[in-house]
Amino acid sequence: MDIHEYQAKELFVKAGIPVPPGEVATTPEEAGEIAERLGGTVVVKAQVHAGGRGKAGGVKLVDSADEAREAAGKILGMTIKDLTVEKVLVTPAEDIEDEAYVGVLVDRNSQAPLFMVSPEGGVDIEEVAETQPEAIRKLKVDPRYGLLPHQALWLADFLYQDPALIKQASKIVSQLYDAFRSNGCSLAEINPLIVTPDGSVKAIDAKVSVDDNELFRLPEVEAYRDAAAEPWAETRAREADLSFVKLDGNVGCCVNGAGLAMATMDLVKYYGGEPANFLDIGGSSNPDKVVAALEIITSDPNVQAILFNIFGGITRCDDVANGIVEATKRIDIEPPIVIRLTGTNEREALEILEGAGFSAHTSMDDVVEQAVELAGKF
Ligand code: GDP
Ligand code: MN
Repeated sequence: MDIHEYQAKELFVKAGIPVPPGEVATTPEEAGEIAERLGGTVVVKAQVHAGGRGKAGGVKLVDSADEAREAAGKILGMTIKDLTVEKVLVTPAEDIEDEAYVGVLVDRNSQAPLFMVSPEGGVDIEEVAETQPEAIRKLKVDPRYGLLPHQALWLADFLYQDPALIKQASKIVSQLYDAFRSNGCSLAEINPLIVTPDGSVKAIDAKVSVDDNELFRLPEVEAYRDAAAEPWAETRAREADLSFVKLDGNVGCCVNGAGLAMATMDLVKYYGGEPANFLDIGGSSNPDKVVAALEIITSDPNVQAILFNIFGGITRCDDVANGIVEATKRIDIEPPIVIRLTGTNEREALEILEGAGFSAHTSMDDVVEQAVELAGKF
């Protein structure tokens, strides 16, 4: 689950990280009032679950309440990476002498939390990683011991020369690890971490993603969920209890079981295609889930072919077949659907599908190859 910058900053403040104050507005008038209260130069910032807001015109520095109102008027309603801005954060503008990057994420390769710090802050860290990998210092954290004080210092030492700054940054790095750990984060990032002319180090941006599997034990973090700010497909998937991850390809996949879903995506790649999503409809026998799955898959304009791969165990193939037929009655499905069903009630399923004008297969290889072909070049 992604949360907004202003929410991430609340978590950072709880951990002791210096963050400028700020308030959230949903209308230009409110933004103006906040700017009035704060006085001086303020920053009006789009609150969406996406980075690169600055480049997209979603971060504006203004000198008065009137200008803040005007800036908020422009930013509210704007779309950044397909997400509509519904809220802005108004915060006092800081004078910046230096911008650095500090982040920690759960890294699959390290199988551990991995810190990354760079003196090249304020820009896209992926870009820095590509063009100047030597400008990033990395540290794998042993979760049994947490981030040790000398490790925090070693990271901070990469950012600054001045011992006073290194000391402050080292403390912030430790506090960031605490915030990351205690809030079940998969990512916690400060970009930029700034130095002000009076020599104080603070976080003026915050990005946090929380591992969905941690939410059940963190109700106060779960309360940060802003369903209106999430992509529609994710909200729909959660409501229907489907395990869904959007990807960038054009072959929509609907599979039962996480392992089979992974294997299906591997096979799509093997035949030269690109999956549009991971979608596990789970072990249930509920046609409604199949309808929801098809709504989600067809909501992605990239999808050129839809691939069903069902291995019926607890899942009954006839239920899936009924779901497919039901979905085609309820929604307009343009991309061709290729179906592989095998296992429990396979014969009944084939009859239902053939009766509705579909053909189904039992070989996984054949259908995946066919789906990739139908989806065409990606
Ligand atoms: P992002 O583009 O979504 O990462 O949003 P950020 O909050 O990181 O803002 C983007 C950029 O705007 C920063 O890297 C800064 O250069 C600039 N910026 C943001 N807040 C301030 C501020 O308080 N003062 C100044 N001078 N620049 C700011
Ligand atoms: Mn940023």
